[in-house]
Amino acid sequence: MIQKSFDEQKPTLYVVATPIGNLQDITYRAVETLKSVDLILCEDTRISGKLLKAYQIEKPLLSYHDHNKHLREQDILEHLKQGLSLALISDAGTPGISDPGYELIQAVIREGYPVVSIPGASALLAALVVSGLAIQPFVFLGFLPRKQSDKKTLLTSYSDRKETLVIYESPLRVETTLKDLHHFLGNRHVVLARELTKRFETIVRTTLDSVHEFTLDTRGEYVIIIDGALEPNYDHLSLSEHVKFFLAQGLDEKEAMKKVAKLRQVSKSDVYKNYKVLHKD
Ligand code: SAM
Repeated sequence: MIQKSFDEQKPTLYVVATPIGNLQDITYRAVETLKSVDLILCEDTRISGKLLKAYQIEKPLLSYHDHNKHLREQDILEHLKQGLSLALISDAGTPGISDPGYELIQAVIREGYPVVSIPGASALLAALVVSGLAIQPFVFLGFLPRKQSDKKTLLTSYSDRKETLVIYESPLRVETTLKDLHHFLGNRHVVLARELTKRFETIVRTTLDSVHEFTLDTRGEYVIIIDGALEPNYDHLSLSEHVKFFLAQGLDEKEAMKKVAKLRQVSKSDVYKNYKVLHKD
């Protein structure tokens, strides 16, 4: 399926980025688009109402958020069928990035209507480019799972990966998350980007070993950026010590032995024999 975004005069869903704190971080094209559509879909009508007022945009708002998105989908598709053009915005930044929008975008594409991006601010890129950590390659993890076992599974799957990791976190959980990152990933450079583009913007550049020396404000919004894994050198460890190293990181025996076999390019049975002979207890 090919979308020629500007060739056909079809009703369109515009995915419009809005500021992440500083009201001036909106593009001319975003304002023009919001003024030109028939209806604006937003998360919180009070928050978006203020933005529209600041830019004298007088268009109706329809709420589309995590709690009503499935109910709203049919109505929104119906609006497109009737020939209305729509814009999707979120409370801040780019819709779809840790914000509602993804399922709606999929549904609109499925129904054959164009989806056009009006790019602009997003906290993940704003934080990444000032972090001073390697920008490419990076992985955006968004918010980490709340459940500890899911968090462990996710983070340990990145423990050897070289990509810089970008994580969103609420200020109330940032300290716990930093402890978990330390526990599952070991010591790494970490950058905390708080309140980007706002008056109290603060960037902390430190390591996971030393981050506790900083008092972290429990207000405001945070992006956490972590260095990728260094090229690990395990030559100083025996196979059995290597298994223990991963056990200490929270892997279970089976996972640890499988990982050692892969990294050391030996068979799983060799790792097993070596480990079990030395750890009969
Ligand atoms: N769609 C948004 C975007 O494009 O960045 C993200 C929305 S998500 C619900 C909100 C999270 O983004 C916050 O918890 C925080 O991690 C991050 N965030 C948003 N604005 C921020 C800012 N001004 N400074 C730091 N982090 C921010």
